[in-house]
Amino acid sequence: MKTINDFNFENKKALIRVDFNVPQNEALEVTDATRIKAAVPTIMQILNQGGAVVLMSHLGRPKGQVNDQYAMKHIAAKVSEVLQHDVIVANDVIGEDAKAKVAALQPGQILLLENVRFHAEEEQGDENFAKALAAFGDIYVNDAFGTAHRAHASTAIIAQFFPESKCFGLLMEQELQAIGKVLSDGEKPVTAILGGAKVSSKITIIENILPVIDNLIIGGGMTYTFVKAQGGKIGNSLVENDKLDLAKAILSECEKHQVKVYLPVDNVIADAFSNEANRQVTAVDEIPDGWMGMDVGEKTSALFADVLKNSKTILWNGPLGVFEMSNFAHGTIALGDAIAESTANGAFSLVGGGDSVAFVKQFGYDDKVSYVSTGGGAMLESLEGKELPGVAAILN
Ligand code: AMP
Repeated sequence: MKTINDFNFENKKALIRVDFNVPQNEALEVTDATRIKAAVPTIMQILNQGGAVVLMSHLGRPKGQVNDQYAMKHIAAKVSEVLQHDVIVANDVIGEDAKAKVAALQPGQILLLENVRFHAEEEQGDENFAKALAAFGDIYVNDAFGTAHRAHASTAIIAQFFPESKCFGLLMEQELQAIGKVLSDGEKPVTAILGGAKVSSKITIIENILPVIDNLIIGGGMTYTFVKAQGGKIGNSLVENDKLDLAKAILSECEKHQVKVYLPVDNVIADAFSNEANRQVTAVDEIPDGWMGMDVGEKTSALFADVLKNSKTILWNGPLGVFEMSNFAHGTIALGDAIAESTANGAFSLVGGGDSVAFVKQFGYDDKVSYVSTGGGAMLESLEGKELPGVAAILN
């Protein structure tokens, strides 16, 4: 796996694909700079070596059209602030302004190209567009894990123009190593916690990780499809009635692979999908009609904590309850505590994919786990065992 550590960037122009697709407020100010911060080590290492940096990214969904709302100038100040370094901004992607600014770029300088998705060719993976971009650098660096699952011009197609001079950035390296520590060489016992709303969105992950895990903890809305499949009473809980057989099949697959499955035993139920609803605690398979499971109960939290205490490798995707409502966040908080404790005792913990990442940031667990992935879709596809085009393009 070639990384920027394998190259000398002195007097070279590094063309770096970053993922600066950051959230913005109505005034178009950056509201979360996590993705910009994640690219700092790669950019600074190249600058410190005497290289120049050309950054390319997409921002939002301009759908192949120039659209001022999605222009990079809106995030340039934040990029500059985070890097503590001047950033030159090009007014186009491969046009006259970009060409002139790349030509004039000196070692130690940073140029940010305009939004690559202002060209429809980006998402089409167009070779000519990729070739025009490729002319802007001596070495191609892919550090955009968040977009690595897309075979776009700047994330994958471009790599062919750098047969000997393409590599991963440090963020990509970290992300791939974190996945590897779970899926390839995770110290046993390996425990995966899968929560979230639906079984259907996690089935490919479950199938892919079964051969490498020892324990599977299931929580969240998908609990109830499993409980119903086993004959339990789930009231009005979230359920996928067309996935009952699948749930049974998953459980017998787990048995075949000698994976221990831990389902919730008790849960907090509510008489409406609302934070103000009436609440009570019941066994997970004894939910009265008109009530729905919204969070795991304390017995379940204790059971899960016990499994995690004895785990050396932990993968977490998906909340255990409707954590967006404070009355139903306790189970996910208890899980965060248990993972944090296990991590403090030497376990490796990876949190990846959408809502659990939002959770760990919101509740302050991001410093208490080993690694929080920056890529939602890309992390999920990795866990599903899919080859990411952005990764394959560098490796091949
Ligand atoms: P996912 O994107 O599949 O990981 O699902 C995350 C969503 O699942 C969050 O918005 C949670 O509110 C939701 N969720 C978790 N537990 C439950 C539950 N018991 N009933 C309904 N939704 C839930």
